[in-house]
Amino acid sequence: MISKPYKVDGMCCGECEMAVLDAVAQARGVEAAEASARTGVLVIESSLPVDTLDVLDAVKNAGFTARLFLCEHPLSSIDSDSWRSSATDA
Ligand SMILES: [Zn+2]
Repeated sequence: MISKPYKVDGMCCGECEMAVLDAVAQARGVEAAEASARTGVLVIESSLPVDTLDVLDAVKNAGFTARLFLCEHPLSSIDSDSWRSSATDA
């Protein structure tokens, strides 16, 4: 399963979360999604890579603005080596 995080601007409450989730559920390949109005984070889960533009378009159509997280580590595996090496205090 692939988890890919996006940053979504403009979500203020649970209804916004639902609107975003409804929208991204239409994107090809999306199997599950989580959205948090509090953190502004949307996580897309799929077994095959999902076209980023499909997700961004879906969120845009729902009235929000999404950006891809620039870092490559999924939120669920922040203990990976690459994360640890970049996050280590000097
Ligand atoms: Zn709202």
